[in-house]
Amino acid sequence: MRTGELGFWWRSLGGPPPPRAPLPGPCEADVAIVGAGYTGLWTAYYLARAQPGLRIVVLEAESAGFGASGRNGGWVSGFFSGPARAYLPGGGTAAYGTLQRRMFETVEEIAAVLERHGIEADLHRGGHLSVALGPAQLAHLEQQVSAARRLGLTEGDLRLLGAGELERRVRVAGATGASYSPHVARVHPAKLLAGLARTVEELGVEIYEQTPVTAIEPHRALTRRGVVSARWVVRATEGYTASLRGARRALVPMNSSMVITEPLPALVWEEIGWEGAEVMGDSAHVYVYLQRTADGRIAIGGRGVPYRYGSRTDGRGETAAATVAGLRAKLAAMFPAAAGVELDHAWSGVLGVPRDWCVSIAADPAGGLARAGGYVGEGVAAANLAARTLRDLILGEPSELTRLPWVGRDPRRWEPEPLRWAAIRGVYSLYRRADAAEQRSGRPSRLGRIVDSLSGRV
Ligand SMILES: Cc1cc2nc3c(=O)[nH]c(=O)nc-3n(C[C@H](O)[C@H](O)[C@H](O)COP(=O)(O)OP(=O)(O)OC[C@H]3O[C@@H](n4cnc5c(N)ncnc54)[C@H](O)[C@@H]3O)c2cc1C
Repeated sequence: MRTGELGFWWRSLGGPPPPRAPLPGPCEADVAIVGAGYTGLWTAYYLARAQPGLRIVVLEAESAGFGASGRNGGWVSGFFSGPARAYLPGGGTAAYGTLQRRMFETVEEIAAVLERHGIEADLHRGGHLSVALGPAQLAHLEQQVSAARRLGLTEGDLRLLGAGELERRVRVAGATGASYSPHVARVHPAKLLAGLARTVEELGVEIYEQTPVTAIEPHRALTRRGVVSARWVVRATEGYTASLRGARRALVPMNSSMVITEPLPALVWEEIGWEGAEVMGDSAHVYVYLQRTADGRIAIGGRGVPYRYGSRTDGRGETAAATVAGLRAKLAAMFPAAAGVELDHAWSGVLGVPRDWCVSIAADPAGGLARAGGYVGEGVAAANLAARTLRDLILGEPSELTRLPWVGRDPRRWEPEPLRWAAIRGVYSLYRRADAAEQRSGRPSRLGRIVDSLSGRV
């Protein structure tokens, strides 16, 4: 089994594309974008299409798609991170409802862009199954669906499935039911990233790799190869933001790890079902997420080592043996028929987690500074809506998007170390205890609720 190497998705394409040149020296641009993940590239895409004359320069520390955008679980999700209440002060449930609808439409928007530019990224609109492994998880799902109804989501957006209905779709051992939403698609993350990078270059955007930005200042991005002066500088660095001067406690890099099997034999697929290739997760506090790939593998991810002291980030995704063993065991427990299948690759990456677990987007015309991020584990689609929002903010064109309740939010900073490390490690170890207690008792645990309210995650 391979590990690291930026993960299976890039490896399946024969590795990342040949490196692009670094920034040749100081330059002037209309917009400088720091970070070539989905946020940076979608922002470049929408700006370049809106105003083809703009000089847009993307500065990437490593290679485009080096971060989470090249390593994720491939859920193009119409849902987004953080508790609804955190978004409500911006305009109440109506504004929240608008945000939710725009996110649902974002799945369609991404599909339309891929079609427009001939980007083949294994996109499949099979929807999402949140599977309950036991009665306690089913109770969680029932609560989530009721909460969604109160926020205006309909049966067509999210509904419960009984165990029988689930089994007709996919046979998951120990499942007692599920929720289903059509507003999620599957994608091959690196194909999406590579296609998007190619497309923005065709639109005249310049991408410079191996060009770390050391600091962002009003109208300037500082690199060792020179300063890029720009009307706007966009921070799109997500899980790596702590490396920027002045942003050390804005977002913590939380690890997520994945393993992927070899293609499963037809007989094993017959046992499992899953012809709809819905993306799937369980409903534990420390959940796993899965996809059935276009070439008949299962990719499964979850939280391994949650966080490294001092907001350190890993290199190319090397993954601890204990994390791999945990994911392998989960896969075998959910799909006993796949227990003997070899794993092909294991990798990890970092996502960006703000103190309140909610996305924020901001643009300050005075200093020419803009940012978007804090998607936690749901940035694949959210980065697209965030980018369209940044386009309108940067071009000074007020729109429905610029009034969405995640615009202008400024979450408080994380605690300094060692508090930050202790709190995050503590939260995840308590969540694991809550999951174990719920498996034993079959009832939602009080501990889980307490940790939810302490962490602010739910
Ligand atoms: C294992 C894993 C599974 C996930 N699964 C899903 C999923 O299924 N669905 C979902 O919606 N979300 C998922 N996520 C989250 C999702 O991948 C991210 O939210 C999303 O990719 C964020 O995109 P981004 O462009 O903001 O950040 P990134 O993709 O992390 O890009 C940031 C880029 O900035 C560069 N950079 C950082 N600092 C600097 C600097 N100082 N100078 C220049 N460049 C810099 C980095 O090298 C990187 O390329 C997952 C994340 C991980 C790690």
